[in-house]
Amino acid sequence: MTTFEAWSPWVAAPDPLHAPLSGAQRADVVIIGGGYVGLNTALNLRRHGVNVAVVEKDFCGAGASGRNAGHLTPTAGKDFPTLVQYFGEAKAIDFARFGERAVLHTENAINKYNITCDYKPTGNIIGGVHERQYAGLERMAALSSKLGIANQFLDEAEVRRRKLPPFVKFGVLEPHGGLMNPGKYLQALRRIAAENGVQIFEQSQVIDYKKQGGHMRVETEAGHIIADKVIVATNAYTPVTLGKKKHRVFPLRVTLFQTPVLTPAQREALQWPNEEGIYTGHHALENYRLTADGRLSGGSKFVQYAYGSQLAEGNRPDVFAQWKEVFARRFAHVPELEIETFWGGWIGMTLDFIPTLAREHDGRLIYAIGFNGHGIAQGTMFGSLLADMALGHQNADIGLFQRRALPLPPEPLRWLVVKGLSWFYDYQDRKVDRAIAGK
Ligand SMILES: Cc1cc2nc3c(=O)[nH]c(=O)nc-3n(C[C@H](O)[C@H](O)[C@H](O)COP(=O)(O)OP(=O)(O)OC[C@H]3O[C@@H](n4cnc5c(N)ncnc54)[C@H](O)[C@@H]3O)c2cc1C
Repeated sequence: MTTFEAWSPWVAAPDPLHAPLSGAQRADVVIIGGGYVGLNTALNLRRHGVNVAVVEKDFCGAGASGRNAGHLTPTAGKDFPTLVQYFGEAKAIDFARFGERAVLHTENAINKYNITCDYKPTGNIIGGVHERQYAGLERMAALSSKLGIANQFLDEAEVRRRKLPPFVKFGVLEPHGGLMNPGKYLQALRRIAAENGVQIFEQSQVIDYKKQGGHMRVETEAGHIIADKVIVATNAYTPVTLGKKKHRVFPLRVTLFQTPVLTPAQREALQWPNEEGIYTGHHALENYRLTADGRLSGGSKFVQYAYGSQLAEGNRPDVFAQWKEVFARRFAHVPELEIETFWGGWIGMTLDFIPTLAREHDGRLIYAIGFNGHGIAQGTMFGSLLADMALGHQNADIGLFQRRALPLPPEPLRWLVVKGLSWFYDYQDRKVDRAIAGK
């Protein structure tokens, strides 16, 4: 029997929670949203003695940061060739280098704060599952190598030498990064932030914020905070819970799953001794990994958009059935392998697959949203970038993310654009999957 988890197997609502915001409060900087972006920014601001408050609608980690697949990757944009196509070589290199530095920065943060999150620097492999993906992946590796980005092509011999699961025929290795327990990482940040004097208010949904005189005022049902600056770190939730930036970011529901702990016979049949993170070379990728407690976990591929950028329902037996079928095909060599638990979350997408960094009210209001399903490293790195921005410090990465981007249109056109793009990618991916099945 399979079960569905409303949050994820990585996190549960902490007990005790931090008290909700009530009455009139004061802070130098208020951060809305207690995920990687919000908590890392808060920690960096505290290091400069700033009085900082995080206001979170549920509990820190209730969003994507406590639900994700745990692949620490340098990926910036959709993939490297698309990044070059969208931004040109020079800027694509800057984004890709940012991704690589973001991985290193996250690894340093894990070490600096002594965080136990089962992190293993295994690297991640973009696995080609059919010849149809060969040219694209080979091009990605060649372009990366020409422009000095560390993506390395793995031919069939190398893939077999690594004893990767047989559905991986060739691939591209992203050597920077690896796998972690994302919930442990988030919960450690929550604890360390509180220990370092960050005021955390949980069960406190922000319903409004505005400029009031020379300050910002942030409102919840039960109270308000007056602050000099506000940072909005609500990623995929921004259009729904705040009614803002609908032209910049839209939520896509992504489903993940895990098996029971593998039996010794299953683990042996699986092979995959180095336990690298794997995602497939599809446009809407499949991701697979082993967990520290010996399960096989995976997901993505089938994503849902809900009209009006609402949060699409996650308990979808039809999607779970599709996943069971794909999973059984990919791991047919492992006996009696079954999915035990499904969960998921919403990723914040932008049209150019790069996060939105926007400043309003003379820099008193900053938005950092739209991490396109790659926010472990980038979101952690944004913690430094946003702290520098709020403090008025120089940081070359700020300019990198301030760009003219094509806005998303209002509904019903937005629905058509998102559905059209999903249909296009799905069509390409289905051709690959049909070719594998010999249809
Ligand atoms: C299923 C899934 C798999 C993923 N896999 C990976 C992966 O393997 N690797 C990777 O790098 N990235 C992955 N991601 C993406 C990554 O998890 C996100 O990019 C990252 O967690 C974003 O962090 P954040 O702080 O911006 O947002 P979040 O973690 O979503 O935090 C936003 C917070 O804001 C709160 N909030 C929302 N509205 C309000 C409001 N009005 N008032 C107060 N609080 C509010 C929410 O409750 C939430 O806690 C995945 C995401 C999902 C959903």
